[in-house]
Amino acid sequence: MIQLIFLGTGTSQGIPVIGSDDPVCLSTNPKDKRLRCSVLLSWNSKNYVIDCGPDFRQQILNNPISSLDGVLFTHSHADHTSGFDDIRPFCFRQGLIDIYSTSEVFKNLKKRFDYIINDKDKYPGAPSVNTNIIKENEKFKLGGKWVMPIKAMHNDIPVTGYRINNIAYMTDVKTIDLNSKLKLKNLDVLILSCLRIKPHQSHLNLEEAIELVNELKPKKTLLIHISNSLGFHDEVNKKLPKNISLAYDNLCIKC
Ligand SMILES: [Zn+2]
Ligand SMILES: [Zn+2]
Repeated sequence: MIQLIFLGTGTSQGIPVIGSDDPVCLSTNPKDKRLRCSVLLSWNSKNYVIDCGPDFRQQILNNPISSLDGVLFTHSHADHTSGFDDIRPFCFRQGLIDIYSTSEVFKNLKKRFDYIINDKDKYPGAPSVNTNIIKENEKFKLGGKWVMPIKAMHNDIPVTGYRINNIAYMTDVKTIDLNSKLKLKNLDVLILSCLRIKPHQSHLNLEEAIELVNELKPKKTLLIHISNSLGFHDEVNKKLPKNISLAYDNLCIKC
């Protein structure tokens, strides 16, 4: 069994957006407060996060874990990577932490977190990581389970989604090709990004997300990477088809 906690379900600015007077940003419903997207996956006393954005520290304080066994990156955008430095408390206790990314994302992380990744001139006290380069179509072992990376496109940049057993996590998706769609068949749970009502050049909007769900036919879909312009959690949720719901921060599922 895998336990999955949604650490954050918001788009890049989070909800509320700083300084915004949009009604969703002013909502007092805790389900309308969304930190940046990440999930915590746990099985057999192992803990993994997918992405490590600017809210990582707060997210782990909200959902305490005593060890971190790996970080899987989807892509290099700041809302998914800029909390990388905050894995330090785990490094100090455990030593090297495994990170998983494509070589493209790794190159970008190396530029932006040179002081973490540069072997020759590592800054003292910086996180210590063990890099695992993942490739499209090549599954890899994580805590005794197989993980299949699944490529999607985020406008013109590739993003990596992950399938473990019958759960798939696909964020920052605009399009998915046929090869990747085949890997998303027979899912119990699909976690899929859905930004807002209006179309967007690099994200699925609600209509496109529902269309993709109808094509892939997972048993259950939870939507993430939500912006305030999608609307209030409770109102949007009520109108969705039965097999689709909005995820919310700190939601925990087991499957
Ligand atoms: Zn994002
Ligand atoms: Zn992105």
